[in-house]
Amino acid sequence: MNHFPDFSQPVNFLLAALIIFIVVTARYFIVSGLFYVIFYVWKRKKWTARKINPRDYPKGQFRKEIIRSILTSILFGLSGALLLWMWQKGYARIYVNVRDYPLWWLPVSLFLALFLQETYYYWLHRWMHIPSVYRLVHQWHHDSHIASPWTAFSFHPIEGLIQAAFLPLLLLFLPMHVGTLIVMLIIMSVTSVINHLDIEIYPSWFAGVPLLRSFIGATHHSLHHKQFKYNYGLYFTWWDKWMQTESPKFSALFRQKTEKTSNKK
Ligand SMILES: [Zn+2]
Ligand SMILES: [Zn+2]
Repeated sequence: MNHFPDFSQPVNFLLAALIIFIVVTARYFIVSGLFYVIFYVWKRKKWTARKINPRDYPKGQFRKEIIRSILTSILFGLSGALLLWMWQKGYARIYVNVRDYPLWWLPVSLFLALFLQETYYYWLHRWMHIPSVYRLVHQWHHDSHIASPWTAFSFHPIEGLIQAAFLPLLLLFLPMHVGTLIVMLIIMSVTSVINHLDIEIYPSWFAGVPLLRSFIGATHHSLHHKQFKYNYGLYFTWWDKWMQTESPKFSALFRQKTEKTSNKK
């Protein structure tokens, strides 16, 4: 970090936040845009049987989602700059030399980070569904009754802040290699779009394989947008299973959307 400018200086901090904001926004348009073009335009017919809700979105929904996602990206930019500052000051436990920790720590730290984020999000998500909190913090996200690839980062700024706070908090105590951190950011970006796609892209055999059957996916999360009181998870269905908040409709709907429709051309 020696060759980086001093992020304690407000100008450098804001410049870093601006650059990260641009990268995060570009990532949103690239990932969501790619999924949109493939599944909603190019291969539209092939995936129609796997669309969970009808395709007629209310007028202006995508525009609203894109504006809100850009707002969220500003917060992610600021949290990224905060993380750089923490790293420079020695507060963030990010390491560059892969040999600083045993090699097995690379996958273990990734899994731990994802599980901790899952736990953090599940319980905050339950809290955000308390009616008074919901109206203030979470309603923006649920304005999308039918999710779309553009819903992925469409949050109220308070919810955006809650999400942006996770990595700086986590890295205060969990050592992570910079490469593992990048893998985690990619997983965050891609799964958020997959879960909001409203088209089930996972194959039917996922239901029979441990770990894979716990992936949330579009069917699971679309039921959250429809039913509100079920399916609060982020990456995995574990907390919903443990706390009995998984929608009773999930398994049958997943089967219905994935069986016999897998190989239609
Ligand atoms: Zn919710
Ligand atoms: Zn959602």
